[in-house]
Amino acid sequence: MRAVWMTSRGGPEVLRYGEIAPPLLEAGQVRVAVKAVALNHLDVWVRKGIASPKLPLPHILGCDIAGVVESVGAGVRGVAPGDAVVVSPGISCGRCERCLGGQDNLCPEYQILGEHRWGGYAELVVVPAANILPKPARLSWLEAASLPLTFLTAWQMVVDKLQVRPGEDVLVMAAGAGVSVAAIQIAKLHGARVIATASSDEKLAQAKALGADEGVNYSHPDWYKEVRRLTGGKGADAVVDHTGAQYWEGVIKATAWGGRISLVGASSGYEATTPLSHIFYRQLSIFGSTMASKSRLFPILQFVAEGKLQPVVGATLPLSQAAEGHRLLEERRVFGKVVLEV
Ligand SMILES: [Zn+2]
Repeated sequence: MRAVWMTSRGGPEVLRYGEIAPPLLEAGQVRVAVKAVALNHLDVWVRKGIASPKLPLPHILGCDIAGVVESVGAGVRGVAPGDAVVVSPGISCGRCERCLGGQDNLCPEYQILGEHRWGGYAELVVVPAANILPKPARLSWLEAASLPLTFLTAWQMVVDKLQVRPGEDVLVMAAGAGVSVAAIQIAKLHGARVIATASSDEKLAQAKALGADEGVNYSHPDWYKEVRRLTGGKGADAVVDHTGAQYWEGVIKATAWGGRISLVGASSGYEATTPLSHIFYRQLSIFGSTMASKSRLFPILQFVAEGKLQPVVGATLPLSQAAEGHRLLEERRVFGKVVLEV
């Protein structure tokens, strides 16, 4: 099959395009002919060796996949060759207490497709049958591939961790990022007023087109004061953040007394200063978050089918140009997802 694989860890140049033997189909698994695969920052972290540094090479990245079922392994029910599908990116044992309790993203054996096993930068990918869901008919392949990881991640943050309620002020950091594109829409769906930050007026306008009520340019050092002003001095009741060390103190100062912050990444660096007085005196809560239960893709797909949630494709490239896609992602030039057509 044609594929893009990592030959070593490093810059985008370690991504090689060519022919490689396809993954074998095992019992209980499904082989999908990939139509589109969306890029995530996870791909960059794995490529650099920051995530899963001991991963055997060669390795195929890519966790957000839409395609057509090519074949099914022994014992697979409810999925047939020819089905148009999206692939849920989280893989777990399916039998431990966490899995059976609907917290499969806390399973000790939890894996992410394209990180711990071969992913979708390829014509074919093999996944467990439990990870196959029907593609919403109204979405293109590119849109469908843009959906799973970011919407799952944002759903757990907004709904499960922050428990956003109607009328609350929700701050969504870095509006152009895939998780933020999803979080803006999910927060609006739950009746919140959304304040989005971005580094350019163009991205702020795109955030408002997605439903954000207010926009704040966070390239100004006092950006958090603008969030306070927009909330009558109160600050945001709930915050979706993944921007890291550079903005962390601002995030804390932009949060209301008794407010909640959910953190899903740290793009600008892991080593941040936390003014602890703000945490206890103003009674802030901080929720770490990674992915979501596979079950959350069911309501997400329902709302997508109804047109109430919409993935945003920012740039499209052929599979052979995966390295260029990584550059686009790392330079944050794109609003929405970078997607490879296979
Ligand atoms: Zn488990």
